[in-house]
Amino acid sequence: MPRLDAEVRLSLMRAVDSVVDDVIDLTAELVKFPSTRGAEHTAQDFMAAEMRRRGLSVDRWRIDIDEIRHLPGFSPVHVSYENAINVVGSLRAERPNGRSLIMNGHIDVVPTGPVDMWTSPPFQPRRDGKWLYGRGSGDMKAGLAAMLGVLDAFQKAGYRPAADLHLQSVIEEECTGNGALACVARGYRADAALIPEPVSDGFIRAQVGVLWFQVHVRGLPVHVSRAGTGANAIEASFSLMQALHKVEERWNADKHQHEHFGHLDHPINLSVGKIQGGDWASSVPAWCVFDVRVAIYPGQDIQQAKQEIEQAIRDAARDNRFLANNPPEVVFHGFEAEGYVLTGGEEAEATLAGAHAAAFDGAALKGITSTGTTDARFFGLYAGIPGLVYGPKAESVHGFDERVDLESLRRTTQAMALFTAEWCGLERL
Ligand SMILES: [Zn+2]
Repeated sequence: MPRLDAEVRLSLMRAVDSVVDDVIDLTAELVKFPSTRGAEHTAQDFMAAEMRRRGLSVDRWRIDIDEIRHLPGFSPVHVSYENAINVVGSLRAERPNGRSLIMNGHIDVVPTGPVDMWTSPPFQPRRDGKWLYGRGSGDMKAGLAAMLGVLDAFQKAGYRPAADLHLQSVIEEECTGNGALACVARGYRADAALIPEPVSDGFIRAQVGVLWFQVHVRGLPVHVSRAGTGANAIEASFSLMQALHKVEERWNADKHQHEHFGHLDHPINLSVGKIQGGDWASSVPAWCVFDVRVAIYPGQDIQQAKQEIEQAIRDAARDNRFLANNPPEVVFHGFEAEGYVLTGGEEAEATLAGAHAAAFDGAALKGITSTGTTDARFFGLYAGIPGLVYGPKAESVHGFDERVDLESLRRTTQAMALFTAEWCGLERL
């Protein structure tokens, strides 16, 4: 990192050390908000207040579907956006002479699952040694807290960025990405975007895309004493699921045709994540609806992938006496996310590598392939901004006892502060 002299670098790293307890406290405060889909607004109010407190000008708005539905990258929505609040805090340089930066994090978290399988309640943050436990601790409230921690460290060390800095706290990352898309639609641009998702020891070089869909299956209800004369919608769904796993198998077999994916055992993962059906144990069920998530490769055409899925369901339905005449319906109701490979970000990558080495005892920064998606695609694919995903180590993300490694959070925050300083340049306060 040529432009930052060693003394400035050291003062920033020490400044991070002096605010790291606040970063941890902020993470814990954020975990207390059960910001699952549709309930993110109170956590967003908190983020807006924290940004204002640090002197950022805050843009807080409700996402309007009609303003984004025509844009590339939009994913369909079948839920209310009544509480769909995005927050962006901006620190605009008086005499910008560096490169501008967006730091982006998502405030939404996934459901907890059965709470009795957690060691402690998921929305009560618990610290145990180097870990902070709680739903969203790693994915990605620690990252959001680190974004604010970078500003605090700058303040402590007596600096501010010499270029525009936008901190984005978005919703909908776990289901559509429409929160990040709404930021792009609102006009936020910068020379790079940094997303502190829990990657640990690396940044995301390539990530899959994701499709969500529901399969609606019909049956013929009869009294279960004459089950053979009816058609069981729930049991018929099993063969449809198997047919979908055949699609998954086929796509995985193609992995060597996709740069960055050939070395992975199983890059494409399909899972039935949710199921509902039937009304009564003694009635053959007349309906079943199941939700599926499947990955696609960067460059794989979304429309064609959707057609392959629909074709697989149609073919499997033909083998079923009832479904052959009552074909299941496939509804795409969430993620229609393209895959993304980070390109054109060499300068930002080099800067991040230098910052990472300084914070992690000289360690090299690895580019990894992610079998999940992130909001980086919106910056890279639709706004011409290299989207770097780099953040602290977390475990059990989307599982029980989700936790973030606090030492890794400290060092990652140092790296983020050094990256910001080097990328944006510094002004003395
Ligand atoms: Zn995440």
